[in-house]
This record gives sequence, structure tokens and C-alpha cells, in this order.
Amino acid sequence: MSPFSRPRALAATAAVAATAALTLTLTTPLAQAAALTPKVLVVGMDGLNWAKVVDANAPTLDALAAGGTLGESLLYCNPVANSSSGPGWSTIATGVMPDKHGVKDNTFSGKQYGTYPDFLTRLEQADPAYSTLSVLDWAVLHTQGTFGAAIDTRITYNGDANGYVGEDVKVTNDAVSQLRNNDPDAAFVYLGNTDVVAHSVGTGTAYRTAIETQDAQLKRMLDAIAARPTYASEDWLIVVTTDHGHNNPSGGHGGCGVDAERRTFVLAKGTGHAAGLRPIDTRLSDVAGTVFAHLGVAVNPAWNLDSKPLNVRATDPFDGLNASLQTRSHETGIPATVKGWTHTAPAGWSVDRSAMPAGGVNEWRGWSFTNEEFWSRTQSSQNRENGLRLRGVFAVADSDEFDDRSGGASFDSTLVSPAYPVTAGSTKTLRYVTHYLQEGAQTGDVLVSFNGGANQLVKRYSADARAKTESLTVTVPAGATSMTVKFRYYNASNNWYWVIDDLRVS
Ligand SMILES: [Zn+2]
Repeated sequence: MSPFSRPRALAATAAVAATAALTLTLTTPLAQAAALTPKVLVVGMDGLNWAKVVDANAPTLDALAAGGTLGESLLYCNPVANSSSGPGWSTIATGVMPDKHGVKDNTFSGKQYGTYPDFLTRLEQADPAYSTLSVLDWAVLHTQGTFGAAIDTRITYNGDANGYVGEDVKVTNDAVSQLRNNDPDAAFVYLGNTDVVAHSVGTGTAYRTAIETQDAQLKRMLDAIAARPTYASEDWLIVVTTDHGHNNPSGGHGGCGVDAERRTFVLAKGTGHAAGLRPIDTRLSDVAGTVFAHLGVAVNPAWNLDSKPLNVRATDPFDGLNASLQTRSHETGIPATVKGWTHTAPAGWSVDRSAMPAGGVNEWRGWSFTNEEFWSRTQSSQNRENGLRLRGVFAVADSDEFDDRSGGASFDSTLVSPAYPVTAGSTKTLRYVTHYLQEGAQTGDVLVSFNGGANQLVKRYSADARAKTESLTVTVPAGATSMTVKFRYYNASNNWYWVIDDLRVS
């Protein structure tokens, strides 16, 4: 160390402190940070398997993932919607799941874009002063209104007619020009060649090359942003996402397979998105909410979004079990490396298995805690893929899977919450996400017990309640100081399942 380095460092610190003291009277450092203009670029790459990005030489995507947050999730499938592009881009654009936006396949029939417009249209509705931009070459995303007519600048190329290799170049050129020379606040740019290549030759070398080309195109867009004359006064969030995966190595998608076609991701790098974070509670519908949060746009509850910013964690206590999930016990067909179930409840919770038989499939003996990766592998095409609003780890009572081994023909188990403090005479709201499929005589009861007393029935399930967010109110009786919530699934014998997630008592 030079003998002068320390005094010089001290002098520099003193100079910074003096500057800070001077500017404090004008504007605080916090206000200076807040004065940065928030802007967002969402790049959609069609049919992009993240696992293949990892394999490819894709330094731009790699750097975004290393410096940002990457949330992977699995798509719905039939009968809710195909794991295909129409539903996928609609979910990304609108911030709601297909049972709301209505797009089930690439015909777009049933679309509800009037009720659930894309995030750029929502920005225009919130404040027409927003400058919005969409550039794409799957032309139907403009002609069908997935990205609507209210967007300030819509640039459309036609990959289906002219080929995606050349049209993706034009999309990139226009995006670069718009980002560098104009002043968009929010932009959506679509690149399509990865999907076309995987459909035609699978997910091998040519697919990897297509990923690498798009990675370079993305770099050109990021370079254009960094070259903006006003870049120093701006706060750019970069989001990359995909509408669906591709079967590996054959290519193709649309069905209920878990290995690759239903895999999607949302990647965001920018202020507030932790570097290297890999949350388990992301859904594809979270892109819109992530954009609104970055731009400081208040989400109106009336929008009825299924969208949570990528950097906001779910409040679900079950998600804390992720690290303790186990590999298969009796299940077959699930790879031995896939972790996804436990009988151990979170702190304060318990499961009553006293009425459960000793036989049956071990994983599902009474209420269990699982995730989509594991649970939807147990048996495809039975709507386990279609919980839609489940996130991360959730609780399942699955009499159907339990009965797939001898001795599993009866099911009666109760999931018990912690005791919540309550005030006599007040009203409590129980809010939770559920996915209940009815068959036969099975029953699902939601019960409450005050101060450990007798169970009181709040709601009984005896018909389908698919992918629902429930909100029930309970009046607290005189003398009560605590309330426990119970979910009892009984009279079940190979009769589908009941899922509970993210209980909130308020
Ligand atoms: Zn496709």
C-alpha cells in the first residue's frame, strides 16, 4: 500500500461527504434515486426451453439470469388450454390465466381481451402519456389484439409468410432503432425462430444455434438501451419470457407432458430483482404484474389479475417446506431424482391421519405437501396441471393416487391450521386458493374451531371448484380468543383430490 493511499482515500471520502451535505438541501439521495425514469423491455422468445439456454453459448441470457431473478413454472394443459402459443402469449400479455383470458388454442376463439387487455394497453388506459411499443413477427398477436390497438407504436412483420430467420432480424433492427432513438416507457419485442426450428428438427444443434442467434439479437437491444443519451437518468427493467417449452429432443408441444413442453420461465434483471434468485412461486402470468410494479402503476383489484411481481414472495406458509421435499416413495414413473412431497406440516400446522388406512400409496396417505413438478407427474391429463393459481408448495388430499396401491381404498384426513388470535364479535376472512374435483360421495369440509371447541362448518365442497380463490367470512363468537381452520376430506374412495394453498386469515 502506498503511504499516500490512505490520506487520499480519506480526502476523497471527505469530498463525497461535503458534496452530499451540499446537495442534501436541494434533494436527498433517495429522491435522486426515485427521480430515475422507470422503463421496461419485455422480450418474448417463442418456445424457449431454459435448460437448452443453459446448454447453449448464450452469454446475454446467462448474464441476465446471473444478475437477475429467474422463476420457472409449468403450464396448464387441456381441457383448460393447450400448452401452445395463443394461450401462452395471452397469459403473458394479460396477466391472467386462460380461464379468464379465454384463449384455449391458436384459433383465439373465446378471447376476452376487452375485459383482460395486455399490459401495454393497461398502461395506455392508466395514463395515455406512457409511450408504448410492440414489435413482433407472429402477426396474429397484433391482428388478434393480444397486444392491442391502443399501443402507441405497433410494428408487425410476418414470419409465417416470409420466414422467421429474416423477420426476426427486421424485428431486432426496428426494436434497436426504437429503443435507441425514440422514447418508449414500455416495450414488448417478440422473436419466433426458436419455436419454428424446434418444430421442424427438434431441440438439438439447430435449436441451440437459433437460441444463440436470438441471444445476440437480445444483446443488440440491450446495447441500444445502454446507448440512449438519457440512459443515466433511466431505470430499465429487462424481462425475458417464453410462451411454452418443447418436447426434448423431438420438439413439439401443446399437450400435458411435464418433461419440457409445459416448462416456462420469467426472467427479470433490474432494480429490486435479486441476483441469482430462483423463486418457486412464479407463474407465467406474473410478467404483467412485474411490469406494473417497476413502473409504479397501482394494480386495481377490479382488474382481477393472476399476477404477482417476480420480486414479491408469496405469503404461503407451505412454500417454506420446499427444502424438505422428498423423492418418490411408492409412486412409479416419477424420476427418482425429482423431489416433491412430504408429510411434515409447517410449524404450527398439523395433519390428522388417524382415520387413514395403513395401505395405499405412501406419498398420499392423508394430506400431503407437494408441488406441480412432482404432483402433475403422478398421472397426466387428470387436471392436476390445471390448478392455475397454485404456487410453489401446496397441500393435497389425493384419494385417486392413494388408491393406486392395495389398501388405499378409503380416505379421511384433516389439515389443521395454527391457532389465529381473534376478537369476539369481529369478522374474520379466510382466503385461500383451492382446486377440488368431485366424483362419487367424497366431501370436503372447511371447519373452524374457537378456543379448541367444537368444529363449526363454514363451507362444504360436494361439486367441482377448480382453480378458485375462495373468500369466506366467519363471525367470532363471544368469549373466543383463538380460531383454528380445518380442511377435512372424507368419504373418499378413489375420488379425485382436493388442493389447498396460501391460506390467509385476516
Ligand atoms: Zn410452437
